[in-house]
Amino acid sequence: MSVDRIRPFVGGEFREPVSGQWIGNFEPATGSQYSEVADCDSADIQAAVDAAQNASGKWAATGIDERSSWMHRIASGIEARLDEFAVAESKDTGKPLKLAREIEIPRAVLNFRFFGNLISGSATASHDSLAGLNVTVRQPWGVVGTISPWNLPLYLFSWKVAPALAAGNCVIAKPSELTPMTAMMLGEVCRDVGLPPGVLNILQGTGARTGQAIVEHPSIRAVSFTGGTRTGATIASTAAPMFKKLSLELGGKNPNVIFADCDFGKMLSTTVRSSFQNSGQICLCGSRIYVEQSIYDRFITEFVAASKKFRVGDPMDPTTEMGSVISDGHQEKILGAIDQAVSDGATVLCGGKPVRLEGRCSGGWFVAPTVISGADQTCSANQDEIFGPVVTVQPFSTDDDAIRMANQSRYGLSATVWTSRMDRALHVSRQIETGVVWVNGWLIRDLRTPFGGMKQSGVGREGGWDGLNFWTQEKNVCFCY
Ligand code: NAD
Repeated sequence: MSVDRIRPFVGGEFREPVSGQWIGNFEPATGSQYSEVADCDSADIQAAVDAAQNASGKWAATGIDERSSWMHRIASGIEARLDEFAVAESKDTGKPLKLAREIEIPRAVLNFRFFGNLISGSATASHDSLAGLNVTVRQPWGVVGTISPWNLPLYLFSWKVAPALAAGNCVIAKPSELTPMTAMMLGEVCRDVGLPPGVLNILQGTGARTGQAIVEHPSIRAVSFTGGTRTGATIASTAAPMFKKLSLELGGKNPNVIFADCDFGKMLSTTVRSSFQNSGQICLCGSRIYVEQSIYDRFITEFVAASKKFRVGDPMDPTTEMGSVISDGHQEKILGAIDQAVSDGATVLCGGKPVRLEGRCSGGWFVAPTVISGADQTCSANQDEIFGPVVTVQPFSTDDDAIRMANQSRYGLSATVWTSRMDRALHVSRQIETGVVWVNGWLIRDLRTPFGGMKQSGVGREGGWDGLNFWTQEKNVCFCY
């Protein structure tokens, strides 16, 4: 696909940005710019809010069955162009085409179908008493905003947009400026299936300009954000004095706790994935690995060998297991974090360097799967999110040690626990301070379950009814006797 300029989708059509500003859009696997993306400003946001307000009354008044049917039509529209979406996602992010084709784009389809189905099951609560009958209704906010990151572009974009639309809101949605392509294609799908103009508006641009203008706009009553913890703090400080409803899904530094009694083979192959899938650029990747002392040496030997074999290559090659990282700046940040770990006294057991490929990808931004040992618990490598293919490994002696080390973090997004003992699995997962815990597996997602972080990993939960209810306000109506 060749697209020169990626424009905002406002009022059901692609428009020139009022801002007149454009930035480069790069293919990280080659390091080359291949298109330009609009950098929308507050005037563009105002145009989108106008379009959304025009559509809002009618959209909120559509029946649940009709909105559900729109969600399924959008899902089918993506599905019909699955290969094209997958290629665009892979090109924009540097992730293996296989990952986009088999997991991420199908998940975006599922997000629309899931919330299309869930809304059909919504019910109204009522509480009767001698004094009156209370009926609690849920009403959409009207015009709402979503802001999402680059690591799982359409997957996370649709994870917010689908429930917001299904609940009856008109949406101003901003994808990351680093990965604008599949959001633009979603705009094409909405146009082609005939979604009423103004119901979904897609505003391309940078965080400081476009994102900030969304958060600041007084008519946008609720904002759902996924991204870094520092950005979340900035957004919260803008939104709080305006009393906006906010959902924040933020960064992580997830512990992976491995007991000697685990199924070693399953643990090892899953841990390689949970460390390096999508080049470690998944908020749920386990980046701090704690291994029971008695199997520590075996783990190090086999894990390092498996990490060295994890195939880094052209994302379009079907045999590639790991593609590039998102940008040259991010590559530098990751390599800087590795250097810092070494300065802090740690040892790089494998990786630690950029990978230079031949041919088409010779200018791409690749980093080798990196395993670090000997990093102190308090040093940056164990405390700060690197968000790349880099993990630290440390031994522990007792269950209490493992819990203490896992919780020694300002983050609290997810954790993985490997053990064959049920009592241990229960005890440890109850004690770990994260919003999500996997026992003997990783990244198994049931969309009905709550998803979100504790501590500095976020505020609120997405998924299931939590995800849908965020996008409505409750109103209690009491019919007095
Ligand atoms: P980021 O915070 O830099 O950007 C995220 C989005 O916010 C982008 O669209 C960006 O343009 C926008 N933005 C930036 N500054 C803004 C501002 N001042 N106002 C409004 N919007 C602004 O994050 P990123 O680098 O795109 O993504 C990586 C981060 O996202 C990591 O920390 C990762 O852990 C986190 N993440 C969290 C989850 C989760 O579910 N908890 C999922 C994926 C990624």
